[in-house]
Amino acid sequence: MPIKGKPTKRLGARYGATVRKRLAAIERVQKAKYPCPNCGKKDGVKWLSVGIWYCRKCGFKFAGGAYNPKLEVVKEMLERKWAGERLA
Ligand SMILES: [Zn+2]
Repeated sequence: MPIKGKPTKRLGARYGATVRKRLAAIERVQKAKYPCPNCGKKDGVKWLSVGIWYCRKCGFKFAGGAYNPKLEVVKEMLERKWAGERLA
């Protein structure tokens, strides 16, 4: 995405601040780079759909967390974030 600055700027003033903050937290996790569990290529794994991950190098497709290939990582991150901002 070529959008700079606030990750939810494309949404403008819509949907409310709380929802936008939640979305920003999820997207940060979703768009981060992850190594491929099959070929080991760094940054190879791409988010394909909710719970589905795909490696651009070897074509390996696998199930994972909805917005993070490692479910435990995203759980921990979001819990920490939402607890801190009282969004949960
Ligand atoms: Zn791979």
